[in-house]
Amino acid sequence: MEYPWLSSYLANLYQSILNKKPSSPLLIEGIAGLGKWSLARKYGQMLLCPTHSQDEHCVCRACQLMLSDVHPDLLAIEPEDEGKLIGVDSVRSLLNKLSLSPHCQGSRVVLVRQAEFLTIQAANAFLKFVEEPGANIIIAMTLDLPGKVPLTLRSRCQKMSIGAPPQDMALEFLRGKGVTDDAVHCIKLAGGAPIRALSIFEANSMERRKLFLMDWISCGAGVLPPALVADRWNGLPIRELALWIRTWLLDTIRSTISGEKTAPSLELEVAGRVSDIHGDKLFEFLELIVTMEGQYTRQLNNQMMLEFYLCKWRDINNFSDI
Ligand SMILES: [Zn+2]
Repeated sequence: MEYPWLSSYLANLYQSILNKKPSSPLLIEGIAGLGKWSLARKYGQMLLCPTHSQDEHCVCRACQLMLSDVHPDLLAIEPEDEGKLIGVDSVRSLLNKLSLSPHCQGSRVVLVRQAEFLTIQAANAFLKFVEEPGANIIIAMTLDLPGKVPLTLRSRCQKMSIGAPPQDMALEFLRGKGVTDDAVHCIKLAGGAPIRALSIFEANSMERRKLFLMDWISCGAGVLPPALVADRWNGLPIRELALWIRTWLLDTIRSTISGEKTAPSLELEVAGRVSDIHGDKLFEFLELIVTMEGQYTRQLNNQMMLEFYLCKWRDINNFSDI
């Protein structure tokens, strides 16, 4: 498994499958960033694989479908976006799917990610289902915040608590991902959770974004020539750049329309400096950037393309109604 600190938990789950089919729902608890969802999915895969293989490279049809994330008998519900609640409609839609016959012979697996995000209504609907799930349906949930799930639901489950691994193991994982500087600091910030520590490290790319944003603003203000900025940016992932530019523009448009900052991000703070540009022109430019995102694969000369868009950007700044 990709996360070595989960091996013993995986082995326990494997054993429980071999001993007998699990009857009560499984609740995998632990702080964010330990890989609980990967473990739940791996559990689902072992259940659906005809030989219950733990092998990452099992070539059976079920495992291949799981790897492609299209196994029809694995049904998952999770927050649509980070921090969003899971509404009762998601649970109803799940129950509708379960009312149909399974696609393959054997079990069906229902996974719930971050069960603390179920609304009360959704949790109640899910509880009813958990009480009588029907034949050959196996349920597993993951949970970052145990106190946030109704006790009635939690008490129905068999719990598996995942702890943070020893620091050495977390360090080795981060090193394998190319994190050397600050690794110990990131692990501490993440409460020992290695995947969260990696995210914290990657968030440092915010600094890099800030530098590009400053180039972008300076180019619009006529301080840096488009050719120079295009040269600096050449070789960078164009899609990522286009996404950042689009985000900055949308933040600017939002703050222009609402008159208030929509997010306390650094980008927004700097983007506030271009909020004098007329909204229509920003929308026009936004359309251009969306085109840029789609174009880059066909464009042989990325530097020329970047220069073209940077010239357009400088132009709308110069001709705006300031
Ligand atoms: Zn298999």
